[in-house]
Amino acid sequence: MPKCLYCQQDNPPNDAECGTCGMPLPEHAHRAPQRRQRRFMWFCIGLTVFCFAMMLWLPRGTIG
Ligand SMILES: [Zn+2]
Repeated sequence: MPKCLYCQQDNPPNDAECGTCGMPLPEHAHRAPQRRQRRFMWFCIGLTVFCFAMMLWLPRGTIG
């Protein structure tokens, strides 16, 4: 039984939205953030690779 996060009401298993307040139920709501989290992970990996490339590319020890 999916429980609504907003009004704590129990809903039928096949319902995508809460029958009481109309908000998306957890089973359907947690799919999108998971995909976004994966995208964010790839963004972090790309940023790290970019930083290392800049460290190697930019000249060091030129100031002072
Ligand atoms: Zn609800």
